[in-house]
Amino acid sequence: MSTTLAVAALFQLQQLDLELDRLNAEVQSLETALRSNTHLQRLRSEHGATQQQLQVSRQAQQEAEWALADINRRLKAQEQRMYDGIVTNPRELQALQQEVQRIRGQQSRQEHIVQQALDHNELLQEQSERQAATMREAEVTWEQESAQLVSRREQAETRKQALQTQRAQMIGNIDATILQRYEILRRTKQGRAISKVEKNSCQWCRVILTPSELQRVRTGSQLQTCTNCGRILYYDR
Ligand SMILES: [Zn+2]
Repeated sequence: MSTTLAVAALFQLQQLDLELDRLNAEVQSLETALRSNTHLQRLRSEHGATQQQLQVSRQAQQEAEWALADINRRLKAQEQRMYDGIVTNPRELQALQQEVQRIRGQQSRQEHIVQQALDHNELLQEQSERQAATMREAEVTWEQESAQLVSRREQAETRKQALQTQRAQMIGNIDATILQRYEILRRTKQGRAISKVEKNSCQWCRVILTPSELQRVRTGSQLQTCTNCGRILYYDR
């Protein structure tokens, strides 16, 4: 294979490799998008937090109700003593009446606490239901979105495989030394080892070629690199 043909083949290979680079980047970004649905994650964690608060609040309500039941039992017992007429001593009776009053005060305060706990629970319950509904909507949307992402990733993978097969065939026809030079340059030159010559200058860095450089590139007598950016020059005739 002449130098001119080899460089032309490398240029084609570079077009293919650039497409492969683009596909690899696309697959990577699709995978990142599939892994990180921050919106849904935030909704789930907010709903989880409300569920936890609700659990704590229900526990508090239960305890407040037990305390109230306890107060009610004590009140009932003391009122029973009062109405049974067992206590006849006026001083003891007065003390009993005061005790009943005291417990009634406790009862009223505790009823207020129970009511507050119930109201708080209700609010949390409503909040939790709203969050769950938003979360379900987001889950449905995400299912559709992720299905699209998966399908795009599959398309990219299929295209990648086709290009890789094509690449294996292409490099079989290129001289090993020249191919190695290309591979090394590609790594150090942002994936662009070959630069076309356009209007007597290197397309990549725009440096103008000397007449003798131009002559060598045109005739393809030997591999010519750009004196400025170091890329292999390709003259497309
Ligand atoms: Zn250049």
